[in-house]
Amino acid sequence: MRFLILALVALGSGIVHAGDNIVGFDATASAAQRELEAQLDATVDAGEMDGWLKLMSATPHHVGSLASKENAEFIAELLSSWGYDTEIAEYEILLPVPKVREVELVAPTNYEASLTEDTLAEDPSTAVRETLLPPYNAFSRDGEVEAELVFVNYGIPEDYEILERYGIDVTGKIAIAKYGRSWRGIKPKLAGEKGAIGTIIYSDPADDGYGAGDVYPKGPFKNESGVQRGSVMDMPTYPGDVLTPGRGATKGARRLDREDAPTITEIPVLPMSYRDALPLLSALGGEVVPNEWRGGLPITYHLGPGPARVRMKAEFDWKMVTAYNVIARLEGSEFSQEWVIRGNHHDGWNHGAADPLSGLVAMLAEAKGVAELAKAGHRPLRTVIYAAWDAEEPGLIGSTEWAEHHADDLRKHAVAYLNTDGSSRGFLSMGGSHVLERYLNQIAEELDDPLSDITLKERSRANLLINGDAKRQAEAKDRKDLRIYPMGSGSDYTPFLQHLGIASANLGFGGEAADGSYHTLYDTYEHYMRFRDPGLVYGATLAKVTARATLRLANAPRLPFEFKGFADNVALYVSELEELAENMRSTTEKTNQLITDGIYAAALDPNKTFGPPVAKQPVPHFNFAPLKNALARLVQAASEFDTVAMSASASSEEINKLLYTSERLLTRDAGLDGREWYKHHIYAPGFYTGYGVKTIPGVREAIEQRDYDKVEPQIAIAADVLNAMADRVELLSARLNGEST
Ligand SMILES: [Zn+2]
Repeated sequence: MRFLILALVALGSGIVHAGDNIVGFDATASAAQRELEAQLDATVDAGEMDGWLKLMSATPHHVGSLASKENAEFIAELLSSWGYDTEIAEYEILLPVPKVREVELVAPTNYEASLTEDTLAEDPSTAVRETLLPPYNAFSRDGEVEAELVFVNYGIPEDYEILERYGIDVTGKIAIAKYGRSWRGIKPKLAGEKGAIGTIIYSDPADDGYGAGDVYPKGPFKNESGVQRGSVMDMPTYPGDVLTPGRGATKGARRLDREDAPTITEIPVLPMSYRDALPLLSALGGEVVPNEWRGGLPITYHLGPGPARVRMKAEFDWKMVTAYNVIARLEGSEFSQEWVIRGNHHDGWNHGAADPLSGLVAMLAEAKGVAELAKAGHRPLRTVIYAAWDAEEPGLIGSTEWAEHHADDLRKHAVAYLNTDGSSRGFLSMGGSHVLERYLNQIAEELDDPLSDITLKERSRANLLINGDAKRQAEAKDRKDLRIYPMGSGSDYTPFLQHLGIASANLGFGGEAADGSYHTLYDTYEHYMRFRDPGLVYGATLAKVTARATLRLANAPRLPFEFKGFADNVALYVSELEELAENMRSTTEKTNQLITDGIYAAALDPNKTFGPPVAKQPVPHFNFAPLKNALARLVQAASEFDTVAMSASASSEEINKLLYTSERLLTRDAGLDGREWYKHHIYAPGFYTGYGVKTIPGVREAIEQRDYDKVEPQIAIAADVLNAMADRVELLSARLNGEST
């Protein structure tokens, strides 16, 4: 009963003030920690960050280029000069570099796509091209194909359902898809599964070109020549070097034959600009596209297939190149066997000013500040490891190989992994493991937005209250902590979180600098400083945010993990799963009935080929009870832990180990169904969405993919995982009680 009253008082107390204890610290330790943070803030110098950004973005620097190696050496020298024990960890990885890229309209007229981006007088960086990789999609297979063209909108599953209703079969055709709405690698994967023999991906001007705003150089959006590069490796199966799944790509590592690598696409794929796409799309006949499929080009969009016929050829030099990861350690003064890992990649598709260098220079500013504190006698208690990853762009390769190579040590020693990547300006975005939700919220409560006079958290909350959907608005009003978003994939946290079960977070600013420069020639210093974060004011704030994140983990007497936020988010996911199944059940039932009754047929335009949908297997009722029972236990255990943790400040190495290894319990060795590399059972990238997260993925994807027989076995697995977590949280409460009495 006493616990219950304490819990209610805690909930009712509302806002946490800067004077409150930091999660994991008592009053004295909190004051000392805040003093250190203030000292560190004073070392963050936006001018210095600007210099690093300008230098490292002067030349295109993809993995395997001389510029990338030079940047790695520059970063290593800086870290080493500040006192870090620094090495460059090398991995030998497969990288396809384009030899032949051709797309040609061969009928009814002829047009040869340029597949090049224009140099701009207004942006001198765009003339620096010695080490520039031309626009391509890495890990497309080699191939030359010629076929009728068919427009597949964004090339996601629901688009193919619409095409089927038009009676359009993409078998033997070349699919042209817009960028967006899914991770790009899903488009050729799905097109190939549907029988297409080639894929073209282009950026429609409605999405991030003139339909969105002024184009570069006048404004930040995509001009007519801009092409988004990017990997199409099947990362939802496994990321990293395609030849060494599950093990580090060291020199002597066992490697697959390239022909056997399952993550290279089945069909060739090339990206293009809207200037190149226009003649192709103009030549399409067939039905006019549904309204929602229209883009921003000045044509009537047709579905095809044909009469447009396209020949495309993609051929690559499949090179072994060296990836250079910079790894810098600062040995902890007390708990050197507990590691806090902090990373950002350094390779870019081009000049990479935004992606990744804007995040990298913030990490360097942070690392410099942490080193200065250490020199002044305030070395972190735990070991801090800064990592600047190579080869993120082709498929999270540098981080994945390092994580796989050191998997055993990382499972033992890693407390958490903190990631940043490209950042701009606007609202602080916080994603990650929900055991870190309170700790991240507290940081956002203690720092002000650099341009307005309110905290980062209150600014984000205000944004949600105005712009969130109804559910988010209600929550933003009543929920003390802002939900951190669950992570799918798209940056280097994936191997740590989803393969090794290390609690992870991803931090950055965004939301007020939409643009079209991503992975194009135009992601330059000039573009970044004009449109993304002039003066690097948000970049400097990011360094202060992440410095707190790193140092609080490194110095907390008791690690700042908590479970109430975790349990509350899992409760949300479980209710979403029930809703998903229920909605699918009623929609399927309704649609099937309309088909059976001939209503669809009666309502359709007899002059059009658009037909009724195909009836689907009815959705059964699933038994969610095992999952809900496990959740109830977890909610109870988390609430008790919260109460105990508040009154007991005690800690020990054993307690900390029980805390930081709790995330491991959310993983299973066997991995997810059909993709064993992904071991986390709460967060995964979607098999058919790519970067987009699927929470409780085993259950969710079985429902979404209508794989009904798998749903209840997956519910049992997810329940096991939550029960293991509940056991751990109960054990932690018992240990804390023991220590405090
Ligand atoms: Zn990036």
